[in-house]
Amino acid sequence: MIGTIGSRETVWALAEQLGSRPEAGHDAGRQQMADALYIGLDIGGTKLMVAAADGAGQLLRRTREPTPLDLDDGLDALNRMIAQVADGERIAAIGAAIGGPLDARRGVVSPLHQPRWRDVPLKAMLEARWGCPFFVDVDTNVAAIGEYTLGGGGAARFLYITISTGMGGGFLVDGAIYRGAQERHPEVGHQSINYRCAHPEQVICECGAPDCLEALVSGNGIRRIYGVPAEGLTAAEWDEVAYNLGQGLRNLAAIYLPDLIVIGGGVALGGGEQLLDGARDIMTDHLRLVAAPEVRLSRLGYDTALLGAIVLARQGLETHL
Ligand SMILES: [Zn+2]
Repeated sequence: MIGTIGSRETVWALAEQLGSRPEAGHDAGRQQMADALYIGLDIGGTKLMVAAADGAGQLLRRTREPTPLDLDDGLDALNRMIAQVADGERIAAIGAAIGGPLDARRGVVSPLHQPRWRDVPLKAMLEARWGCPFFVDVDTNVAAIGEYTLGGGGAARFLYITISTGMGGGFLVDGAIYRGAQERHPEVGHQSINYRCAHPEQVICECGAPDCLEALVSGNGIRRIYGVPAEGLTAAEWDEVAYNLGQGLRNLAAIYLPDLIVIGGGVALGGGEQLLDGARDIMTDHLRLVAAPEVRLSRLGYDTALLGAIVLARQGLETHL
């Protein structure tokens, strides 16, 4: 399906951010950027989302399809969707969010949850096909960029966390992605926490460790522990999830000292303010030496990585010019 874009607020915020940024390069470069079309790709394990924005940041068109299992079918689908949203206009740059691991510089991807995509030179393939620069990063980093730029973040030390089937995050310092050794991003879900659980024998993380935060609060973890999806949890079970999330946030706040933590993803958005209130209380109660950071829900809903990918395209081009 192809459609127009959702909320006016998002379009506006995007226009503001993209339209008002100081631009690098010469006049020709600036003109080129203003006239241009930017494409964002959110390549997920279950669905592909593609959107186009103009140089002023106005979102123009978007489309989504289920992710094909096969690599060639997946690439065909992406190219078809890009053509759909570009609608014959010249593309200035393409940005993409995809599961790790990947090599952001070379643009070679091997998303863990798409087993037939291994060592795919996505950058080389899409640059050859579309004749424009292509930039890619891990979905959680791209989501962090989207939320920081468009969700009113602007915090000097900004932590974005997503809680959906799994759990991940991206950490930005002055808007730049924090990269660890081997360019990896911090694995916020795979920290050990002092947890409470009525069924401790069910707490097994997919990474193999027995006490990860992800195993307690992610969609898959919740299903394993409580036998139901997150939307089926009782109030007492949500309390337990909130307690465990709060313990994880306490560790992150104590170690990173972020100014702002934004939480998105289906489980977090489903749990809503009740989950966040409980988690925030536990975090604050257990933080003694550092101030508790602001913690809030994502304002971009399920479009965080898609919008982030458009910002990545624009930022990449700025650096590229
Ligand atoms: Zn783990």
